[in-house]
Formats: sequence, structure tokens, C-alpha cells
Amino acid sequence: MIDKKMKIRAEVWGNDLDRYILRHPIIAIDDVLIDAEAFFKTNSGCDFCGNCCLHGASMPRETAENLQSHLNEIVSRYIPADRRDQVGWHESSQKKELQWTNLVEIDRNKKGCCFLYKDGERYFCSIYSWAFETQRTIYDYWPFECIMYPLAILPYNGILHPGKTFITLRRKQNWFLVDVYGGIKHEGMVLGRLYREVKNLLFQRMRSWRLLDDIEILPDDCYFKKSGQYKKLSYMYFEPQLIWYFGEEFYQKVCAAARQFTSV
Ligand code: SF4
Ligand code: SF4
Repeated sequence: MIDKKMKIRAEVWGNDLDRYILRHPIIAIDDVLIDAEAFFKTNSGCDFCGNCCLHGASMPRETAENLQSHLNEIVSRYIPADRRDQVGWHESSQKKELQWTNLVEIDRNKKGCCFLYKDGERYFCSIYSWAFETQRTIYDYWPFECIMYPLAILPYNGILHPGKTFITLRRKQNWFLVDVYGGIKHEGMVLGRLYREVKNLLFQRMRSWRLLDDIEILPDDCYFKKSGQYKKLSYMYFEPQLIWYFGEEFYQKVCAAARQFTSV
């Protein structure tokens, strides 16, 4: 329970995560803080547009080594002949223990991860397709980053819940918290963030007064754009990832929390 003094302290001295927590419903399960709105109020499902793969992916050296002996098979099954020799990875210039997948021309004027391929109008990951079709355990081969997208698992570095872990889904409302790969620098963007905070607060109020529909304000990421009845609630859609990372028992507690949250 966060008392009034603590709230003021977090508001004044806390960081972005503290302020986000103060403004959003959070459910604690064991040592994990769940962004309830993100998991229990949005619907998720991939539309296979391929956009999340346009920057490639990083993976630890072990994942790359694990893939190496299967590379020829993956490439010959799915990748067009004219770009097979470009498939692979290279060392990250910033973190030596990480490998980055090569970026190649996927379509005319469209660059993306070398493992991406197109089937009809939809884009697929060749590592995923290969592991799935050859009945392997997909998560043994797929880069961690790709498994978890768009989940974000952050160590709590604020003052309200030190030592805990915060999980959410990457959305515009929280991109300043979840950009763990360090692509965007936030310094000097104070006005932009202030604008977003005020806007989110306003939306929250309007929703509580029933002036806005949830679906209207939440969709702002690939996963949520075509949200509708036909897509699962996000905590259900991300069941495999949540179980893989946190375990079955944890996921059952998430389901119980979701039932409680959505019935209120
Ligand atoms: S819908 Fe999202 S996750 Fe699916 S391919 Fe597009 S950007 Fe990637
Ligand atoms: S490895 Fe697969 S899922 Fe990951 S970025 Fe490349 S194509 Fe996309």
C-alpha cells in the first residue's frame, strides 16, 4: 500500500516509472508488478505486417551458435535465392556479447531483418517457421527479443517498489519507459513527455467519466491497431511468453487477477 507521503515523494523525487505507476492500475503478483490496463484491457494479435522486423534483432552469442548448424536448411526453405548469401549476423559494435541479424532489402525500398520472408501479402520469420514446421521447440532457437516483443520486462528502478519487476506491453503511452534497447535518447524531450503525460491523464479521466471508449484510446501499436472482438485479450494472447518466462503457476495467478480486474 502506498501512503500519501510516499505518493508525494514519488511524484517529486521519483522517476518516470514511479509516476507511471501512480497513474495506472497495477496488480502485484509475487514480485512482479503487472500493468493491468495493458494486459487486461487491450486485445492483441499479430497482423503479419513485418514492421517489427525492419530493424533486425539482437541475440546472445549462444543463440547464434545454436542456429549456425541449421542456417542452410532455414535459408533454403524460406529465403528467396537472390538474397540467401546475405542471411546471418554480425557482432554488435556496442555490446560484444550480442550478435545482430543482418539488414537486407526485403522488398523494393524496404529493408529488414535477413530472416524475414514474404508469403502472399504477409511477412513471416524464417527461424520461427522452420522451428515450427520441423516440430522443434521454437523458443530454443528464436531470439529472445523476438519471443518477447512487444512485452517489456523491466527491473523496478524507482523508489516505490525497489527490487520488483514491472511488466507491460510496448505502447506509445509508455515508450519512454520500455525502450530497453537504447535506440532513442530521451534527454531534451521533456515537453514531449509532459504532453503525453497530460494527454494520458486526460484520457484516463474521460474514460472514468465514460466519455471515451477504451478501444478508441488504447490502440496505438501494431498489435492493437486492428483490435476488436476477434483478437484475444492481451494476457491470453501472450500466454506462451508469460508461462515460458514466469512459469505456469504465475500465469494462473495472472488469469485470476484478470478475472477480478475485468469484473470490477
Ligand atoms: S503486427 Fe506487430 S508484431 Fe505482427 S508483424 Fe506487424 S509489427 Fe510485427
Ligand atoms: S529473427 Fe525473425 S522475428 Fe526476429 S527480427 Fe528477424 S525476422 Fe523478425
